[in-house]
Amino acid sequence: MNAPLNADLHCHSVVSDGTLSPEELAQRAKAHGVTLWSLTDHDEIGGQARAAAAAAACGLDYLTGVEISVTFLHQTVHIVGLGFDASDASLAEGLQQTRGGRAQRATEMAADLARVGIPGTFEGALTYAGNPNLISRTHFARFLVETGVCKDTYEVFRKYLTEGKPGFVEHRWASLKDAVRWITQAGGMAVIAHPARYKFSANEELALFTEFKGHGGQGVEVVTGSHSIAESANYAAMALEFGLAASRGSDFHSPGESRTELGALPDLPAQLTPVWQLLAERIQRAPTPARV
Ligand code: AMP
Ligand code: MN
Ligand code: MN
Ligand code: MN
Repeated sequence: MNAPLNADLHCHSVVSDGTLSPEELAQRAKAHGVTLWSLTDHDEIGGQARAAAAAAACGLDYLTGVEISVTFLHQTVHIVGLGFDASDASLAEGLQQTRGGRAQRATEMAADLARVGIPGTFEGALTYAGNPNLISRTHFARFLVETGVCKDTYEVFRKYLTEGKPGFVEHRWASLKDAVRWITQAGGMAVIAHPARYKFSANEELALFTEFKGHGGQGVEVVTGSHSIAESANYAAMALEFGLAASRGSDFHSPGESRTELGALPDLPAQLTPVWQLLAERIQRAPTPARV
């Protein structure tokens, strides 16, 4: 049996829709007891070099990371990639393509919100986007909170920006096959992110897991900030059934917003294979302090 490891393999920086820098996240992860960390910005690996350097500087082991937006059966699914070579050209090109439609989508979201009497949200959201190529619904949500339209970002996503609500614009992201291929061909492992968040029927979910495996996907998030204890137990069983390794990550975005702190998660159930066991060779080990 493996000793539990405080691994946090899912979080976001200002390079996507988080509010902290990669350096601030590394320090915060360290302060909360994390020993193996990964920064997994949405569709973007521009923060990887800084994250790896910051991890080394504060004594954290590091795995490269990304969270790719995928469209599967008309829903958005997130696929986390871990331990890939961040200089891989096809991965970079695939991510650039995936980011491509965000500005246009944001313009359409703003037009839709203006129709229900909320003007100026494109410009407003943009002031929150640390990376103008990665304007996301989270940036709109922060603007709607700041301007008093909603009391917090949870209320925003309840009333706006989600399917059937004002400000929702359907978008076509990467295919499941491409996302898994970009990650695995770059030497990394593809992991289904927060599976309980999707609104699939049992058959559709089966199709997701089956196709994901068929494309070479190897892992699933079992313990995440998005799962209840019961949901974790359910996806632990799914991991065993499908022969997938299990991942653990907070999905931390911001001190003011996120309900789950970096590293503050239950351990993975003992019978599962942790993703970091299969990725041992890909871990960038923190330099051990010199002995005196
Ligand atoms: P986007 O990639 O622009 O579609 O934005 C997706 C991001 O919005 C997610 O990564 C979350 O950070 C946030 N988000 C999406 N849905 C919700 C929700 N229901 N509650 C809170 N945050 C959400
Ligand atoms: Mn996000
Ligand atoms: Mn996600
Ligand atoms: Mn995430």
